[in-house]
Amino acid sequence: MPGFEVFGDEEKKEINDVLETGVLFRYEFAAQRKEVYKVLQFERNFAEYCGTGFAQAVTSGTAALKVALAALGVGPGDEVITQGFTFVATWEAILDIGAIPVFTEVDETLNMDPDDLKLKITDKTRCIIPVHMLGAMAHIEKIVEIANEHNIPVLEDTAQAAGGRINGKHLGTFGQCGTFSFDSVKTMTTGEGGMVITNDEKMWRTMSEYHDHGHDHAVNPFGRGGEGRSFIGFNYRMMELQGAMGIAQLAKLDAMIAAQKTHKARLRDAASAIPGVKFRKLMDEDGDTATFFAFILESREQCQKVSRVLIEEGVPAINFSENTWHFYPSWEHLHRGSAVAASGYPFNAENGKRRIVYDPDVLPKSADLMERALVYPIAIKMNENQLENICNALKKAAGV
Ligand SMILES: *Cc1c(COP(=O)(O)O)cnc(C)c1O
Repeated sequence: MPGFEVFGDEEKKEINDVLETGVLFRYEFAAQRKEVYKVLQFERNFAEYCGTGFAQAVTSGTAALKVALAALGVGPGDEVITQGFTFVATWEAILDIGAIPVFTEVDETLNMDPDDLKLKITDKTRCIIPVHMLGAMAHIEKIVEIANEHNIPVLEDTAQAAGGRINGKHLGTFGQCGTFSFDSVKTMTTGEGGMVITNDEKMWRTMSEYHDHGHDHAVNPFGRGGEGRSFIGFNYRMMELQGAMGIAQLAKLDAMIAAQKTHKARLRDAASAIPGVKFRKLMDEDGDTATFFAFILESREQCQKVSRVLIEEGVPAINFSENTWHFYPSWEHLHRGSAVAASGYPFNAENGKRRIVYDPDVLPKSADLMERALVYPIAIKMNENQLENICNALKKAAGV
């Protein structure tokens, strides 16, 4: 992370193609655009890269979640299960579609705990969203198996793990659909942007229409103004400049991951010296995108000691139990039910009563893990000096 480290002539060329036509919009302007369709090309390249049938570009990873949930038919009265360690966007999208987020514990993968998932499924569950956090895979095969037993679709939030795989099969292709983010801190970036991939053509058509106000995109003599519609939609359209960036960045993704893997291996080696250290469980080492390096200590006290040394050495690691954006107990606005709507929706029902109450203490297994885990983000370009500093600090921390 992140892809802006390797912006170069490739991105400039793609952007320039768009500027030369002046067409910033993915639809229409056929004569003026001279066959330049960057968003469409990006979608095709992305679907092909992931080995799936269809890709729908949208404005963000959050929009991707919303559009996918809409196309799966999720709405008010439904429950959607996700994990308690994720970015707030995952459950914001669930609330935005009108459904209720239900949170599972995470296990040593730092992703959805399949055993806890089984306990959280009810007759209202309409979708399961495992998240491939910190660049690496959830127990996705197991999760899809459990979901299939209950006939519930799986949406993989792959925002942080583009290019990740299990035995060569891309993350995002195990469930009904997978969503991606290309925001400014993700491995490949278009500034803002997102994508949904699926093998289901009908779902893709629904997303294509929904993300563009319901436009059916059928060819007709009156162009865009003459298009029909089967349902109401919204506007989550990606623009051509983002599509152009996406084409150039996607072409570099495997090289970015390879660089990150080299750096991560160095840090992992150094951290191995810490007594009792464990590494986050990876279903497939080769399929890791190495965007982050996570290691787990034996106790909270040991974790704090190690963390203190790393801070003293000037190379602090992240402890996600202290980070307010990614871990359930820290989401005070969720626990309080703080919304902008005067009615208190989505936390309050029409009669003003609370629809849902969240207790910050219901995920003890996750809390225990997160309090013992330290994480380094891995850059694509890390110079010898930076790597040496972290490795030396980790070795020093091994002695405390
Ligand atoms: C970044 C992220 C998102 C949201 O993506 P945006 O493009 O920033 O809207 C969703 N889920 C996870 C896990 C993320 O890390």
